[in-house]
Amino acid sequence: MNQQPILTIVVPCYNEEDILSYTFTELKRLMENLVQEQAVSNKSKILFVDDGSSDNTWQMIYKETLKNEYIRGLKLSRNVGHQNALLAGLFTAKEYSDCLITIDADLQDDISVIKEFINKFKEGCEIVYGVRRRREKDTFFKRTTAIWFYKIMKKIGVDLVYNHADFRLMSKRAVNALKDFGEINLFLRGIIPLIGFRSAQVFYDRKERLAGETKYPLRKMISFALNGITSFSVAPIRFVLFIGFSSFCISLLFAIYFLFLKFFRTTELGWTSLILSVWLLGGLQLIGVGLVGEYIGKIYSEVKRRPKYIIDIDAFNMPLPLQNSGGENYDSIYMERGKLSETN
Ligand code: UDP
Ligand code: MG
Repeated sequence: MNQQPILTIVVPCYNEEDILSYTFTELKRLMENLVQEQAVSNKSKILFVDDGSSDNTWQMIYKETLKNEYIRGLKLSRNVGHQNALLAGLFTAKEYSDCLITIDADLQDDISVIKEFINKFKEGCEIVYGVRRRREKDTFFKRTTAIWFYKIMKKIGVDLVYNHADFRLMSKRAVNALKDFGEINLFLRGIIPLIGFRSAQVFYDRKERLAGETKYPLRKMISFALNGITSFSVAPIRFVLFIGFSSFCISLLFAIYFLFLKFFRTTELGWTSLILSVWLLGGLQLIGVGLVGEYIGKIYSEVKRRPKYIIDIDAFNMPLPLQNSGGENYDSIYMERGKLSETN
């Protein structure tokens, strides 16, 4: 019985107050079932990571940690983005856990396949990818942009698991290995296949978001995709080199042609072609410089080695509730720090 693995489910939350109570209920029920069926140890936890929300997300999480033994919380000092919030959760819980599952707070990913994840883990897989079977519940826009994203990534040689988001199981070993990737510009989906180890895929259908709205507006999606591309591949910069080189060759040919016109024909040399080439080359140079800048920006943030996240309150590794030495009640301190207004 004691052999059952300790599971931690890591749930990043950014302004998710609308859906959290649903998420609590569903995940608690799931965890209770898993423990009852002895699929996982009864020490297993669900860790909600508050990614610097500005609504009541943390208050809700904290209250829940006091009520339910399976629920734990982690509050980050500010919004650091989905990927970093996931890391914060994984690294905080890894020593405690044998395996860790990450899932979005909106539970668009089907939690009923978690059982299957655990079976695969018990069969010896260190990483289990949740893969969406279809995405018809996503908006048309999201679906097409996502398809294009995978296509482009594949073209430029980034090895992604098709239609896999951040719903996956990782063993403690895999998470430890992940920790050795010191990059700041993190694109987990690209890095995790690089860890290696035995892995498996589990298929599921993705649901619609029940409440709240997507925290990935177009702006964030573009930055996410751009990050993915530039973190893993020098293909864009090669492309610019290629264009630069081709336009250089073409302009050489033009030069010969223009000289030919000048010396052997009438020199109605076009102001148009001149101005066109000025603009064209100017544009190309700008693209080139912009892209180079993108990479230099990466180097810049890598060399600084800033922490990827900072934990404000760790309600995972501390026993709850707790008396501190001054006799003050742990929960009143933290409730206050979490600006919990309600008294319950
Ligand atoms: N999220 C986060 N920090 C952010 C943005 C999003 O922790 O800055 C979380 C969010 O709470 C959710 C998950 O990342 O649990 C995925 O976000 P969302 O469901 O909005 O993305 P979508 O499913 O639309 O791609
Ligand atoms: Mg979602």
